[in-house]
Amino acid sequence: MSTNKTFGTFFLPGPTEVRQEILAAMMQPMIAHRGSAFEQLFERLQRGLRPLLMTERPVYINSSSATGMMESAIRCAPAGRILSLVNGAFSERFAHIASTCARDVDRYEVGWGQIHTIPQLDERLSMRKYTAITVVHSETSTGALNDIRAISDCAHRHGAVCLVDSVSGFAGAELRFDEWKLDYVLTGSQKALALPPGLSFAVASPSFVDQANAASARGVYFDLVELDAYARRNQTPSTPALSLFYALEFQLKSIAAEGIEARWARHKAMAVRTQEWLAKTADETGKRVVNIAPLGSQSPTVSTIKLPTDLPAETFTAAVAKRGIVVGSGYGKLKGSTFRIGHMGDHTIETLERCLSACSSVLRA
Ligand SMILES: *Cc1c(COP(=O)(O)O)cnc(C)c1O
Repeated sequence: MSTNKTFGTFFLPGPTEVRQEILAAMMQPMIAHRGSAFEQLFERLQRGLRPLLMTERPVYINSSSATGMMESAIRCAPAGRILSLVNGAFSERFAHIASTCARDVDRYEVGWGQIHTIPQLDERLSMRKYTAITVVHSETSTGALNDIRAISDCAHRHGAVCLVDSVSGFAGAELRFDEWKLDYVLTGSQKALALPPGLSFAVASPSFVDQANAASARGVYFDLVELDAYARRNQTPSTPALSLFYALEFQLKSIAAEGIEARWARHKAMAVRTQEWLAKTADETGKRVVNIAPLGSQSPTVSTIKLPTDLPAETFTAAVAKRGIVVGSGYGKLKGSTFRIGHMGDHTIETLERCLSACSSVLRA
């Protein structure tokens, strides 16, 4: 990934650092969104987006933050009880959206930092009839990565559809929509895609769209059936955030040049490097700093690191900021006790090293 010298200081796990060239790409004139220039743009975006999800399906592009497409998932899901798999703040948000959309929801919560395992899920799904489950691929609050393929297969064995939030997974963690026979995956622009915030994306299987057709309270803005019908004409139901579409077009070219599998591998390498650094730093400083997600289930895009009790996250992130690097504080109930490194988007091992050395310097002080 080519980046200029000023790039490589901002490691929030969303929004992530956006390259100057991408910001510059947004400064193009407006075009009519009901005209052929827009339709051609939309079609080019489709060609760029499909390989990222390894799908032949249309990729819906909505002008909203990712939470909008979480709501879309719920509103379009088949009638009946929903099981929400909760292992952090964003998966809890999914459950919350379901209950505020007046759905019957049960939560299946495991410890924050943990993932959901199949034998337990299988048992849980045998206890009661569910028509859908919600799950977060990469839990951005904890840095834990769920096995989406296995979870989706398990849901299918019990006759439930699987609604996947891959907001910080998409474009950083392996995701194969068609091959894994997924039903619905949603994401946003400001995580591993490394665009400014403001766009959300979703892919749905043909049978999920059919089921959505029968859902009675889909509303308007997040109605998948509408998004699907318009996407087929290379349009969006309402006025798209055109400037962000320009940024997306630019970024999709860069991603195509890198290759999605190489992009997944780069993210994995950054997570592995962070883990190595952590073990070495704990050793050298005698400080108890640990990734709260166990080895083997760590997200390639974000690491959530527990700090020693005498070092509040706010103090730590402020000291790192003094060294010119922004890392994230903890999120939700982990706010004060952890910090997060978003090693995603257009970051590389080289830019990550700057971040890690700033963190080391604070931990040694
Ligand atoms: C960031 C994030 C969201 C919310 O995205 P918004 O764009 O802020 O609405 C949801 N789920 C996960 C896993 C996230 O990382």
